[in-house]
Amino acid sequence: MIINEERNLLQFQFPSYDEQLGLNIYAYVKNNEAVIIDNGYEQHFLEVKKELDKRGIEIRMAIQTHFHPDHIGGLPHLRHVPIYGSVHAEYSLAKFYNNYEDYLPTVAVEDTIKVEFHDTKFTLMPNPSHSKCTMLILVDTFAFVGDECMFYDDEEQCMPYAAETIEMHRDGTKFLRTIIEGYLVCPAHGRMTYCTMYLKFVIMYFNHILKFPEQSYEQFSELFQVEFKNDKFHSHNVSKVKKA
Ligand SMILES: [Zn+2]
Repeated sequence: MIINEERNLLQFQFPSYDEQLGLNIYAYVKNNEAVIIDNGYEQHFLEVKKELDKRGIEIRMAIQTHFHPDHIGGLPHLRHVPIYGSVHAEYSLAKFYNNYEDYLPTVAVEDTIKVEFHDTKFTLMPNPSHSKCTMLILVDTFAFVGDECMFYDDEEQCMPYAAETIEMHRDGTKFLRTIIEGYLVCPAHGRMTYCTMYLKFVIMYFNHILKFPEQSYEQFSELFQVEFKNDKFHSHNVSKVKKA
């Protein structure tokens, strides 16, 4: 685990290996209290918890970008604090678990709300995109975008994965583009960045496969001169178009 510090934000980075994406857990810290944004798989969360304990930092709140298994592993350990997440959490959880009570948010967010933490406010903005339960989280100039941006540690761009429809993912990405300017993008996978080109490439890619679902990833890549690593998601994404 690598710890990157950016102002009062701690990024706990679990590196990528081979073709596997790494993942991040974030702790926004004030006065030795923390808001945890996403919490990886259980083993990742426990490592982070140990480090926070060592530093004398207490977790006061959890906020979820979405409810896929690589983001929620710590939630059973966080039932004593408020857990904020999209009202559509259950919809996503039911796809992966029979029994998901320990992973549900305790505060279901339907429309944009502001949540106070010490002298700052978090803005929680539901925005169905990569998943139906995607929620953007903004505080100061940090934007927690979950899997709306996915990078490898070498900064290569991971191909987007449309868990729902291509249109939902594309339109959510378009919305994100309208608000993200000036924020430090904090992805759940890969390094923090001010660059938002990835979002533009994702919109181009989805528009392209909606029109030409029969084309290969290589054809897209050559035409637009855009490269995504992990292009095995292409066949999954294209299957979403054909189903529609
Ligand atoms: Zn993820």
